[in-house]
Amino acid sequence: MAHTASTAADDGGGIDGESAPLATAATALADAVRTTLGPNGLDKMLIDQGGTVVVTNDGANILENVAIEAPVGRLVRRAAVAQAEAVGDGTTTAVVLTGELLKAAATLREQGVHPTTIVDGYAAAATVATRRLGEYALPVDSRSDRRLRRVAETAVTGRWDARSTERFAALTVDALESVDFDQGKLTHSAYAGQGLAASERVDGLVVDMDTSSTSLEAVAPAFPDAIARPSIAMVDAEVGISEPTHVESITLDAAQQADALRRHEADTRAALVAAVRESGADVLVAQKSIDDAVRSRLAAAGIMPVERTRRDEFDAIARATGSEPVQSLAALDPQLTGDAATVERRPVGTTETLVVEGCEERRASLLLRGGTPHVAEEVDRIVTDCLAVVRRALEDGAVVAGGGATAVALARDLSTEATVVADRRQLVLDAVARALEAVPRTLAGNAGRDPIDTLTELRRRHDAGEHTVGVGPDGEPREMVDCGVLEPRSVFERSLLRALDLASMVLRVDDVIATAASDDEPTGQDHASHDTGGYPWAIGH
Ligand code: ADP
Ligand code: MG
Repeated sequence: MAHTASTAADDGGGIDGESAPLATAATALADAVRTTLGPNGLDKMLIDQGGTVVVTNDGANILENVAIEAPVGRLVRRAAVAQAEAVGDGTTTAVVLTGELLKAAATLREQGVHPTTIVDGYAAAATVATRRLGEYALPVDSRSDRRLRRVAETAVTGRWDARSTERFAALTVDALESVDFDQGKLTHSAYAGQGLAASERVDGLVVDMDTSSTSLEAVAPAFPDAIARPSIAMVDAEVGISEPTHVESITLDAAQQADALRRHEADTRAALVAAVRESGADVLVAQKSIDDAVRSRLAAAGIMPVERTRRDEFDAIARATGSEPVQSLAALDPQLTGDAATVERRPVGTTETLVVEGCEERRASLLLRGGTPHVAEEVDRIVTDCLAVVRRALEDGAVVAGGGATAVALARDLSTEATVVADRRQLVLDAVARALEAVPRTLAGNAGRDPIDTLTELRRRHDAGEHTVGVGPDGEPREMVDCGVLEPRSVFERSLLRALDLASMVLRVDDVIATAASDDEPTGQDHASHDTGGYPWAIGH
C-alpha cells in the first residue's frame, strides 16, 4: 500500500538523485556569494594560481573570477555576468535566489513533483510577481531628486565607507540634474592622485590632453593657463604643410632653391596662422596633428593650439560651443567659431586637461580622484553604477523598497495565491515564496542577526499591512522608504525573473553531455591573473 502511495505521488519524474549534482553545483555558487549580500556583506579574497590576491564583495566579480568546473555552475555564472552587464546591479540577489530555487526544486522532486510541474509553477510565480511588483512600485521622475539619490546610494552601499558612497551618489545625481538627466551630456573620468574628497564636478567639458594632444609646454612655455570668453575655431584635419605625397625625394641643386623652399614653407605657415587670427579665434582645436612650427607660431600669437583631439571629444566640443569645424584653415570664418565662458588648461594628477566651461549647451563632467590608480578605477566604477541605476529607475519610472521588503511582500502574495491553486503548482508557489524570503534572511544573517527571528517579525508586520518593512542597515526590521533603501523596480524584477528562468533551465536538463568543441568561456584563472578587477586592495605578487 505504501508502495502504491509513493507511486501516486510520483507524477513521472521519479524520485531520482541523478539531477541532484546539477542543483548542487549552483547552490554551491550561491553559498559562495551569499555572505557578500547587502550593506553588511563581507568581502571575499580571491587568489589565483599566479598568486594575485583580489579582495572584492561584488558578486559578479567573484563569479567572474572563480574557477568553476561544473557546467551548471558556468551557466549560473554566465547568467550572473549577463545580469551585471545588462542591469548593472542585483547580481548577488539573482544568484542567491537561483540557489534557493534549485534547493527548493530538489525538495519538491524528492516529494515526487515532476520537473515540468516545477517549471510551470515557476512560470506562474513569475506572472504573479510581475503583476504584484506593479502595485508596490513608487513613482520616480527626474524631479524626484531625493528618491534618485537614495536609489544610487542603495546600489553602491557596502562598496566603500558610508560617507563616501553617499557623497558619490550625491555628486552623480546632482551632476545629472545639472544636465536635465541627459546622460549623453555628462562625462566622467578618474585620475589617480589626491583623495576621494578631491573629486569634483565641472560644468563643462574636460578634454584629456595627455591622451588626445601633446603637451603645450614644449612649444609655449609662457602661454596663459586660462582664456576668458574665448572664440573657438575647429578644424577637422591636419594642420601644417602638406608633404608631397608622390615624390620620393627632391634634389636641391642650388642654395637659392633651398632658400626658396624654406621661404615658401614659412609663408605657408604664416598664412595658416593668419587665417586663424582673422577668424578671431583664441583657441584652435584640431582633430589631427598641428605641426610644431605652426603650433609655436599660434602660441606666440596668443592662440591656444589643441591638437589630436579624440573624435568623440572633438564632436562634443563642437556641439557644446556651437563651433562649426572646417576642413582646412583657409575656410575659417568668424561666423564659424564657437564660444564658451572660459577655456583653461588644468593639470589633474599627472594628466593635463583642457576644461571648457560655460558652453551654450549645458554640459557636466565629473573629475573623480583616488589615491592610487586602483582606487580611482573603483571610484569610476561606483559612479558608473550610480548612473546605471538612476537610468534604470527613470526609464521605468518606478522604484521599490529594498532590504528584502519587496521580497517578503511578494512571498506573502505567492503564498496567498498558492491557496487558490488546485494542483501541485500550489507546492511550487509556496516554495518560491520561501526562496524569496532568503533575501531578508541572508541580509539579517550578514548583519549578525538571527535570520529566523527577523523573518518572523517581518512576516508579522507585512501581515499587518506594512509592505515596505525590510531589513535595515543594522539588521533590524525597519521601514525601508524612511531608511532610504530603494532600488529600481526593474532591477529587482530582473533578478527574480532571471533566477526563475535559470532554475527552470537547469531543471529541464537531465543530463550533461560533453562535446568535442572547446568551451568558449574564459576559465577564470587566465582572466584573473593580471586583472585585479581594479579593486583598491588588490595586492599583486
Ligand atoms: P546585488 O549584487 O544583488 O546588488 P548587493 O550586495 O548590492 O547585491 O546587495 C543588495 C541588497 O542589499 C538589496 O536587497 C538591497 O535592497 C540591500 N541593501 C542595499 N543597501 C541597503 C541598506 N542601506 N540597508 C539595507 N539593505 C540594503
Ligand atoms: Mg548591489
